[in-house]
Amino acid sequence: GGLLVYAESNVESGKQIVEKNQSEPEKKKRIVVLGTGWGGTSFLKDLDISSYDVQVVSPRNYFAFTPLLPSVTCGTVEARSIVEPVRNIIKKRSGEIHFWEAECLKIDPENHKVFCRSGINDNLAGHNDFSLQYDYLVVAVGAQVNTFNTPGVMEHCHFLKEVEDAQRIRRTVIDCFEKAVIPGLSEEERRTNLHFVIVGGGPTGVEFAAELHDYVHEDLARIYPLVKDFVKITLIQSGDHILNTFDERISSFAEQKFQRDGIEVLTGCRVNSVSDHFINMKVKSTGQHVEVPYGMVVWSTGVGTRPFVKDFMEQVGQEKRRILATDEWLRVKGCSNMYALGDCASVDQRKVMEDISATFKAADKDDSGTLSMEEFRDVLDDIIISYPQVDLYLKNKKLLAATDLLRDSEGNEREEVDIEGFKLALSHVDSQMKSLPATAQVAAQQGTYLARCFNRWDQCKTNPEGPRRFKSSGRHEFLPFGYRHLGQFAPLGGDQAAAELPGDWVSMGHSTQWLWYSVYAR
Ligand code: FAD
Ligand code: MG
Ligand code: MG
Ligand code: MG
Ligand code: MG
Repeated sequence: GGLLVYAESNVESGKQIVEKNQSEPEKKKRIVVLGTGWGGTSFLKDLDISSYDVQVVSPRNYFAFTPLLPSVTCGTVEARSIVEPVRNIIKKRSGEIHFWEAECLKIDPENHKVFCRSGINDNLAGHNDFSLQYDYLVVAVGAQVNTFNTPGVMEHCHFLKEVEDAQRIRRTVIDCFEKAVIPGLSEEERRTNLHFVIVGGGPTGVEFAAELHDYVHEDLARIYPLVKDFVKITLIQSGDHILNTFDERISSFAEQKFQRDGIEVLTGCRVNSVSDHFINMKVKSTGQHVEVPYGMVVWSTGVGTRPFVKDFMEQVGQEKRRILATDEWLRVKGCSNMYALGDCASVDQRKVMEDISATFKAADKDDSGTLSMEEFRDVLDDIIISYPQVDLYLKNKKLLAATDLLRDSEGNEREEVDIEGFKLALSHVDSQMKSLPATAQVAAQQGTYLARCFNRWDQCKTNPEGPRRFKSSGRHEFLPFGYRHLGQFAPLGGDQAAAELPGDWVSMGHSTQWLWYSVYAR
């Protein structure tokens, strides 16, 4: 409907009453963001909020700087210094964002609605249900711990996902020492109380083990000198190596360091169940079952999909997948107007070979059926941009090797490439494709990327979908998300690492191993 505007009327002066039907200013599109972790927060930080009506839903009204969570377990860092209230973040964005402290329970993609419940964490007040309508939905709800349905884990183990978890672990470590010094216990009982077990040899488990080791040997040994020699830290890993997603040099460095520190690493062991006093595990190589008495267990194995996301995946035909799939533009597959990023989703990268004929055609500008060497090099540059998930280093190496294929037997560069040569040259690139790791670095970069796409939406009205297209055949409207791994390899137990957050929320110099692998500067 139009807005009726009456112009100033002055009948006496003979002017006529003008009735103007001015078109209504276009209504702002509604973006609903689920989650205020790394992905959601970095999206909000970079979104041009003047163009959108933004609503944020998250059961936690703060952002948590997760890389420092392991340090909270040992009191090296205070919990309050690693959180930033969402309302502070919003305030910096001139208050145009609405925040609702609630949990999303259900997504209705057909009617563009989300159903939420507030007051879930609150035992005193009852809860309230409400729904929100969206034009665009950004799902950044992260993941939950994965127990692999191992019996007893939920009941008896600690997790290290949330700030509360870290605080709880800290209290439990002290409790274990207090229990161990009680008079009249046998040495074995003291040892059991002071047996700290970490299940999972990924970066979080490894870092926690290292932090705990320092805490126990530097601080607690002085407070509890009588029992200090009974402390034992064990790391159980089902794979053959700890940190197995990292470079081999790093994982063996970590293993050696742990050996020197006296942290026992049990690789090739699978935990079958956990009871109130024992871990039951199977040694894979021998098939033997072993009962391990413990004082505290921290369970830190991988990430799992949240139940409401699982339900949603069933609704949109993704029931066979382990994790919500998006395309390279972070659009949820099988849905319209919905985006997902961070730990709750995974980019389903197209393979170079799937598009190989179209790529060749686009590069062959004169339709001669062959590419000149110049055209070939141009198209390689495009491929690096358009298939960002092919690990860059490997990609460059492989693509260099690909150019080698284009030499004749005397080593002279060929003048032209036909489709067969083109396919041959690129046939190895896809095998190097890796899925992106579940890290803050990825989530934050995806948030920024998506915000920038939204900010450019108006400029790209003609083709908001961001077609896959090469330079040779036209310009990109939106480039696909390309992850830049900013980490660098450095030995464990390095001196100092700086955490640079997107923006200026928290930053501190602190020695944590993970921070060496991940650099947050953008
Ligand atoms: P999260 O940051 O987990 O955010 C999810 C958000 O969604 C939260 O605000 C949550 O409250 C909210 N939410 C949950 N359920 C709902 C719902 N139903 N409705 C609405 N909102 C919901 N990565 C690194 O790169 N470097 C590190 O050093 C590092 N260290 C880590 C240490 C620890 C102990 C842990 C646990 C993780 C670490 N990570 C690290 C991984 C990193 O924290 C995650 O990859 C990152 O948090 C993922 O961001 P996200 O936005 O996808 O999810
Ligand atoms: Mg998030
Ligand atoms: Mg977070
Ligand atoms: Mg992901
Ligand atoms: Mg040609």
